Amino acid sequence: KKIIIAIDGFSSCGKSTMAKDLAKEIGYIYIDSGAMYRAVTLYCLQHGMFNADGSIQEETLKQQMKDIHISFQLDPASQRPATYLNGKNVEEEIRTIEVSSHVSPIATLGFVREEMVRQQQAMGKEKGIVMDGRDIGTAVFPHAELKIFVTASAQIRAERRYKELKEKGQDVSFEEILKNIEDRDRIDQSREISPLRKADDALLLDNSHMSIAEQKEWLKEQFNK
Ligand code: C5P
Repeated sequence: KKIIIAIDGFSSCGKSTMAKDLAKEIGYIYIDSGAMYRAVTLYCLQHGMFNADGSIQEETLKQQMKDIHISFQLDPASQRPATYLNGKNVEEEIRTIEVSSHVSPIATLGFVREEMVRQQQAMGKEKGIVMDGRDIGTAVFPHAELKIFVTASAQIRAERRYKELKEKGQDVSFEEILKNIEDRDRIDQSREISPLRKADDALLLDNSHMSIAEQKEWLKEQFNK
């Protein structure tokens, strides 16, 4: 019998790598809920909805929510799964530091969360999915059969992310990444709606000192229990 697996945790803690690997191995669908908040943020950046002080023009966004269409599809050229925003593959663009540094305020907005959660729950109608994010085990699928909450020290998460972005050729400093991770942790934990927290029935995984292979093994064990 197929189940729903919810993987939540702090920014850049390797949730998506784990979730993706597990989904592939057990033949489930993987959904990256953070990509949806990132796509909304990219749309806002493209449409000049941020004020100079970084605040968002809420009313404008509210009116344009119906024009924002996000989906996950296989890119025909690369044959890889990708995030699409209004018919365009934005998988790369949503991972830039610019999007990362604007996304958490967008994710505090009630009307944005409501719409994202509604779409995510619709994707979970068919069981057999692994979804990662911040509120999957608490708000999106409070009845998920398996819930994991992942964490690692901010320093270690920043080191990993720095390496990854450098390899992709992005021009960022370590300090900028560390600050972004700490800012997002703070905003995600202190927002009013569905703040980032471990669900009572989630299993805690601190992967500060684990390799990717070790995490993968651990996660598979939990699934097979
Ligand atoms: O997971 P990722 O780092 O890509 O998520 C980007 C941002 O989207 C997070 O920092 C958080 O503010 C927001 N988010 C959220 N709820 C989710 C997934 C992501 O608020 N379920």
